[in-house]
Amino acid sequence: MVRPIVGAGTDERTWRAWPAPATWPALAVDGRTPTTPPLVVAPHPDDEVLGVGGLVAMLGGGAGAEIAVVTDGEASHPGSTVHSPVELAAIRRAETATACGLLGVAPAAIAHLGHPDGAVDETALTDALTTRLTPGRWCVTTWRGDGHPDHEAVGRAAAVACRRTGATLLEFPVWTWHWAEPDDPGVPWHRARRIDLTEAARSAKREAIDAFPSQIRPLGPAPADAAILPPHVLARFARPYETVFVP
Ligand SMILES: [Zn+2]
Repeated sequence: MVRPIVGAGTDERTWRAWPAPATWPALAVDGRTPTTPPLVVAPHPDDEVLGVGGLVAMLGGGAGAEIAVVTDGEASHPGSTVHSPVELAAIRRAETATACGLLGVAPAAIAHLGHPDGAVDETALTDALTTRLTPGRWCVTTWRGDGHPDHEAVGRAAAVACRRTGATLLEFPVWTWHWAEPDDPGVPWHRARRIDLTEAARSAKREAIDAFPSQIRPLGPAPADAAILPPHVLARFARPYETVFVP
């Protein structure tokens, strides 16, 4: 269900006070798991870092993870007085390259699929992901119920591609932390797994988030140039763990 992403959303202090995450099973990430580099599918440049930047950092350099960025995020600031959508697309692609580099991902492991921001072609995306997935490979992407139309479309496409190929779908919430509340019955908490981050992974994730100035700082003083990820939103992505929903 697409939900309005407005207002301040649920305060991070509320999430931190919620005891449930401590009871979720931890997802093992070590030398043996996963056995092949996961494919991380980001609807917009930055979702890969917000959702699972710590996981990507823990998988290490080289062939640690592959990143597929579905759109260029050019619609993040409609009506911007500073950057055109074409300029924003170029800026955001460059930010992803820098951020993923900080997580140990080589440029060759990042693919930009070039769908229009706000109009993901689910059929084409499903086919593209199907060619990249193999049985048991982790496909890590935004949850189908995350509330943002692109996040949900990408989640659905990944779910179909995983069904076709036998890959393992791991879905991460991004905007869910904004509109949901602890124990929200609309969220599949029973499928939640915790990825406990090492101190090094947390620190790499912090640096990677800082590599998105177009999103974390205003582009200019006009309301249309406001930061998409102000501090109260970023606070949700500074936790010592990340969350995925398993099948
Ligand atoms: Zn996004």
